[in-house]
Amino acid sequence: MVQRFDVSTFAQGAQYLDGRLAPGSAGRTHTVVDPATGEQVYTYELASPADVDAAVAAAQRALPGWAGATPGERSDALHRFAAVLGERAEELAQAESLQCGKPIKLSKEFDVPGSVDNAAFFAGAARQLAGVSAGEYSGDHTSYIRREPIGVIGSIAPWNYPLQMAAWKILPAIAAGNTIVLKPAELTPLTSLMFAQAATEAGIPNGVVNIVSGTGRDAGEHLVGHPAVAMTSFTGSTEVGKRVAEIATSTVKRLHLELGGKAPFLVFDDADLTAAVHGAVAGALINTGQDCTAATRAYVQRPLYDAFVSGVAELMDTVRLGDPFDPDTDLGPLISHAHRDRVAGFVDRARSYATVVTGGEAPGGELAKGAYYRPTLITGAAQDSEVVQRELFGPVLVVLPFDSDDEGLRLANDTPYGLAASAWSRDVHRTGRATREIKAGCVWINDHIPIISEMPHGGYRASGFGKDMSAYSFEEYTQVKHVMYDNTAVARKDWHRTVFGSR
Ligand code: NAD
Repeated sequence: MVQRFDVSTFAQGAQYLDGRLAPGSAGRTHTVVDPATGEQVYTYELASPADVDAAVAAAQRALPGWAGATPGERSDALHRFAAVLGERAEELAQAESLQCGKPIKLSKEFDVPGSVDNAAFFAGAARQLAGVSAGEYSGDHTSYIRREPIGVIGSIAPWNYPLQMAAWKILPAIAAGNTIVLKPAELTPLTSLMFAQAATEAGIPNGVVNIVSGTGRDAGEHLVGHPAVAMTSFTGSTEVGKRVAEIATSTVKRLHLELGGKAPFLVFDDADLTAAVHGAVAGALINTGQDCTAATRAYVQRPLYDAFVSGVAELMDTVRLGDPFDPDTDLGPLISHAHRDRVAGFVDRARSYATVVTGGEAPGGELAKGAYYRPTLITGAAQDSEVVQRELFGPVLVVLPFDSDDEGLRLANDTPYGLAASAWSRDVHRTGRATREIKAGCVWINDHIPIISEMPHGGYRASGFGKDMSAYSFEEYTQVKHVMYDNTAVARKDWHRTVFGSR
């Protein structure tokens, strides 16, 4: 018997302000839809700009107490938070699968444990702020560095990994002593709300973690432009990221942008072919391809090209589409019917200039009511075509051949994005060159996708700047203050002569 998450938990509303659920006051509602069935799951009142103001005010009130807590106190609270999240693992996985259509095995084995581990990591990091040592850099002074919280953080998250995005945004921010208002994507508020409730249950003071569930245009832009918000941390598309950057810049905020990706998957001719085929199918189809680091463009050196294409097509055809709550389901639906139609549009247009080797259609039968799309393999597309250059965000892999190593590396770098990439070879010199020359925030060697709390995630170029996870993200949520002490106790200091008088 498949258990499903009970949304009556959120009968009081989808805003989380000052440690309590509340309804939004925008005067409009949004309905969360199960993308596997098209059924309506939960209707909530959207946040208005006034709700954002209330959330920011709650975060401002909580700031002095939380910023003034010792690192040890914050660390203890985050350890308890990790424990509460761990106790709620089953519920969190169900809610995530319900609102996103994720296969339950992915929610249970990736999204939830990753988020719990993040909480445990930042509980440790809260006590481990590194810095330069104090010293006499000018003979007459002692200097040292203070790393201080920034203030109220405004974060905006996408729908593809709502729980992990809440974790990646909230945990480093609060570990460093900030308070936060997070706006999840309107399609997927449930696990962000559960995350905030778990924070309260763990004893994190009211107002430290607040959630506003509203649209990008109303709640999102108001949060980014809010004068009392000191930093904007945004994860989403490059297009919306540019708009967010404009607003944040005009209000002089610190900005962290985690944007789109179009990850290359570079297979040299000495690679383990079976490993590369498995890696490409897993890397392209994880989360139904709705992953900013998903393998989207495989470049395969000519001697392996034909075998790679037939191997990937065969393996893709074994992937089981189905009910996300069935533990045997490999691939769930896309996030919505509208998004499925967008992905299908890219593939349909590609038929005029490339070959759709497998997939390229929605399944029929029982699955027809959901936003499903078959795993799709495209060959013969030109490097400058839209399926190679643009982010489709669906279960679609494009494969292109290359001849020399120079050419493969050039093609891998030939999109505006730079979030992640992988290179496949048994030759340490080739893989070493790939790690140096590929312009991306993460390069995997002989694998594609794994992430760990200790290491940073973030882009180069149009994929944005700033890091999630790891000590790097923790530091981003702090600001550096130089403190300089005079050691001389002399009233008339030597340097004063550059302003008045002489020696
Ligand atoms: P999106 O850019 O449409 O929306 C992201 C968030 O921004 C949502 O909460 C949305 O409501 C909000 N938003 C929309 N318009 C806004 C505006 N004008 N002002 C402020 N906020 C606004 O992205 P999406 O469709 O939800 O998610 C998919 C995108 O996210 C893909 O491009 C994907 O690559 C990217 N992504 C990147 C990373 C990363 O770490 N780099 C991780 C996950 C997803």
